[in-house]
Amino acid sequence: MTVTNNASPVVTRLRPARRDVSVSFEFFPPKSDDMEARFWESLDRLAHLRPRFVSVTYGAGGTTRERTLRMVTQVKAKSGIDAAAHLTCVGASRDEVDAVVRSYALVGVNRIVALRGDPPTGIGEKFEPHPDGYRNAAELVAGIRKLGDFDISVAAYPEKHPQSPDWDADIDNLKRKIDAGANRAITQMFFENADYWRFIERARKAGITAPIVPGIQPIHNFKQIAGFAARCGTSIPDWLAARFEGLENDPVTHERVAAELAVRQVNELLDSGVREFHFYTLNRADLLLSLTQLLGLKAAA
Ligand code: FAD
Repeated sequence: MTVTNNASPVVTRLRPARRDVSVSFEFFPPKSDDMEARFWESLDRLAHLRPRFVSVTYGAGGTTRERTLRMVTQVKAKSGIDAAAHLTCVGASRDEVDAVVRSYALVGVNRIVALRGDPPTGIGEKFEPHPDGYRNAAELVAGIRKLGDFDISVAAYPEKHPQSPDWDADIDNLKRKIDAGANRAITQMFFENADYWRFIERARKAGITAPIVPGIQPIHNFKQIAGFAARCGTSIPDWLAARFEGLENDPVTHERVAAELAVRQVNELLDSGVREFHFYTLNRADLLLSLTQLLGLKAAA
């Protein structure tokens, strides 16, 4: 885990309700009946916010192909909310990936989050594309564009993708994805808004004009999120770790602190003009509901 030293006060300022903010929610495909029940319960509780879309992730190496397809199909059918299916290039030929894209289109899902994905051996390992496969997300976006009129999101990294040798390479890569036809980028989770703004500045300087939607990760469980963060190259600042110190066995206080910190992060971004957010839900509604209530977010009129 990377640790930084920025001291940062936590003060929630409550604002009037607002209907000018658009949200999307990310879920993962459930593995069991219990998890599936929680998925639907959470979606049900968040539906009143009328998200722009709900996205469902794609397991490493396509391991959740059928489940992702089933969940995105049902999200649309059961809730009427637009669904976005994540898709990676891992371990599959172009023909196989194209077949998955067509299967999404067949069930009426025309939003795709297009990703390279990580090797099954681990996130930090060298990515070896399938010999007949898409080699990266930019190639995948170009491939999807050839298959139909899809709304395509791609990934962006406010702290740089761990495998990009430098910032120029990272921003060039995002530009290639947008130039290949992506409509927007969604960021990896980040906890220092300054990282997001520096990233936006770099991207705009490079001529990227597409929306770069901040991906917000409410901290349901600090230990778990710190583990994810370490694996995907997101820093956990010292001040953030300190806020959760000693709360391992105190879920009530943990949730209060998590809501407070997420409110503060989103409020700062709102104050700076951001009007679109992507929330990583981990299939849970509780903390997100506290957050959206405290923020006063309402469905668009
Ligand atoms: P790319 O944009 O292809 O880039 C990966 C790396 O390769 C970068 O460092 C880039 O600079 C470099 N690179 C790309 N092309 C070239 C080139 N031509 N020459 C040299 N270098 C190059 N993972 C999943 O498995 N399933 C999911 O559902 C999923 N959802 C995600 C959703 C979001 C919003 C985000 C931010 C990430 C998600 N991920 C998911 C994780 C993602 O798969 C990993 O971060 C992966 O390591 C990179 O994917 P990418 O699409 O950003 O890759």
